[in-house]
Amino acid sequence: MTVAIVRATPDSVGPAMAELVSLLGYRPSHRALFIKPNVPDSGPPGQGLFTDPSVVDAFLDLFPGMPVVIGEGCIVGCDASVALRKNGYGEVAARHAAELVDLEKSPRVSVPFPPDWDSIPAFGGHLDLPTYLQSHEYINIAKMKTHVQTGVTLGLKNQKGLLAGADKRRFHSLGLHECIRALGDLVQPNLTIVDGIVALEGNGPWRYGTPLAMNLLVGGTNLVEVDNVCRELMGFPPEHAPHIPRLQGVETVGVAVEHVRRQFAFHYQGCFVYKNVHEHLNDSCSGCNLSLYHAFRAMKRSRLRRIRFLYRGVWRRLDVVMGHADSLPSGHGKVICVGECARRLAEKYGLPLARGCPPDPEKLVRLL
Ligand code: SF4
Repeated sequence: MTVAIVRATPDSVGPAMAELVSLLGYRPSHRALFIKPNVPDSGPPGQGLFTDPSVVDAFLDLFPGMPVVIGEGCIVGCDASVALRKNGYGEVAARHAAELVDLEKSPRVSVPFPPDWDSIPAFGGHLDLPTYLQSHEYINIAKMKTHVQTGVTLGLKNQKGLLAGADKRRFHSLGLHECIRALGDLVQPNLTIVDGIVALEGNGPWRYGTPLAMNLLVGGTNLVEVDNVCRELMGFPPEHAPHIPRLQGVETVGVAVEHVRRQFAFHYQGCFVYKNVHEHLNDSCSGCNLSLYHAFRAMKRSRLRRIRFLYRGVWRRLDVVMGHADSLPSGHGKVICVGECARRLAEKYGLPLARGCPPDPEKLVRLL
């Protein structure tokens, strides 16, 4: 198999996508398409956060008349049909008569792991996955981003959006690297495309990342090959992204890797630091992180809250703990816990806890 790399800018997505598909010699083998973009949330366009709708639009232009489902399962607490529309997928759906689907609410089928696959017994030998994977041509259209918990997020990580909410949480608590690999063993897209036009470097995949114009589309019919090539394009060694099974010497066509490789920035050292606030993610999922983000935004809207934050989170050190943690952060200041996953730590040390999964941002504001 082969991975194709083509140059693409926001103004040349159409021709670039046609070149990519032509280099791969790709034709769908099913009569209907299931597109899984990376839209875990909503946010500003052009910042490297989500698969750009123009990429999906350009792909669908190549296969007119086919029935299309565009589906996503967002981060915990976020409605995918809202997120897709907020990110411009409503127009794409209208142009191609496509259905926008929240995978959290779509029918699922139990898919067994291979018989020799037993490294995560907690799943009972199977995963409940969207039925579209069986009935449709599955096109994984991921984004090229750094990720503080998995090193990078590309095609393999994008498949996490296929999971039911409870399984997404279990992936975090059981270990993301191993679980994402297992999902890759179970589900192989017919085609994987990575949107690297505006990528994200730094401490992605959220607000601490920085957009980077890579001006590339990368694609192939083997998910693991595509992820290996993208990781190389981002300048990271295999150890940086343990969830990607290591391959060497993947054949590429189009632009040569060495002509377009960039070293993506990545500085994450186990916690985020904002002003004097230390955010400890541990194994948390994005739900709590998003709540914290909205809590900070809510604080900025009130003068009184801003003054209180100057005292608690700027003049003094504040530690925010999410996910499962057994011990207090070293050198900590005042510690607050966020979400049900952090409850055990809160109870162990008598710490304030914003309850919920994820907690309401207002509950958090009261603790900050
Ligand atoms: S409590 Fe927070 S980190 Fe834990 S599963 Fe819920 S949203 Fe995710």
